[in-house]
Amino acid sequence: MHVLILGGTSEARQVATGLHPGVRVTSSLAGRVTRPVLPPGETRIGGFGGAGGLAQWLREHEVDVLIDATHPFAGTISFNAASAAATAHVPLLALRRPGWVAGEGDDWHPADSLEQAAAMLPALGQRIFLTTGRMGLAAFAALDGLWFLARSVDAPHPPYPLHMETLLDRGPFSLEGERALLHDHRIDVLVTKDSGGPATAAKLTAAREAGLPVVVVRRPPVPGGVPVARSAEEAVRWVRDRQGAA
Ligand code: NAP
Repeated sequence: MHVLILGGTSEARQVATGLHPGVRVTSSLAGRVTRPVLPPGETRIGGFGGAGGLAQWLREHEVDVLIDATHPFAGTISFNAASAAATAHVPLLALRRPGWVAGEGDDWHPADSLEQAAAMLPALGQRIFLTTGRMGLAAFAALDGLWFLARSVDAPHPPYPLHMETLLDRGPFSLEGERALLHDHRIDVLVTKDSGGPATAAKLTAAREAGLPVVVVRRPPVPGGVPVARSAEEAVRWVRDRQGAA
């Protein structure tokens, strides 16, 4: 059995670890990060050239099962995966960690897009901690009256806000560290995607403790008709069940 995992997340690496070496696993990365953490098994890096290219790859490499374990906000590749799997007649499973849920004391402001999040900021504060990743910074570029601390794995490229400090770092992040960061930079608003998962959740607790508003960008939908697993273990079980049935 040959499993292709569309990755770029810690869950994707966990699935590869759970299947390798008993199952042939190829993990695919987009190539956005300079020094990615590589999963066990085979790896390929770079785009496929759209849904058609991915369907061709599935056929040429005799892929039996496709797992879309990309980040919840990587919407294009997920739709390409659904289309390519249908074309190549390869079973597809989407792995999506659950989103975060607001608790008592949280002051969350949902937004449907980064642009909508940006439009909300002037009414909420002046010193913004942006944790939405370097690729979406253009949405905030026109906000010259605000100061930003932007955290990302690799250095961002313009356009980005005029008054912006960059913090290059990769999760997981500790609660202690997040508390100190909010305090030291006198942050008064946090902006995050609803990425879910424990690795980057401490900022939400730190914001709640400090009484800060949090703008939470909602996830794009999973393509219709695609079964969804909520954890790497569930995805590994799904593959093993199919292997057993084959
Ligand atoms: P995207 O907008 O959904 O995808 C844009 C294009 O990048 C796709 O059409 C595809 O190119 C290529 N691509 C994306 N993921 C790929 C993969 N795993 N393997 C091969 N090609 C891939 O994705 P994105 O938001 O730019 O994210 C890129 C990657 O970073 C994803 O793999 C995702 O898991 C990871 N990531 C994203 C975020 C986020 O917030 N968006 C956060 C953390 C990690 P072709 O059309 O040429 O095939």
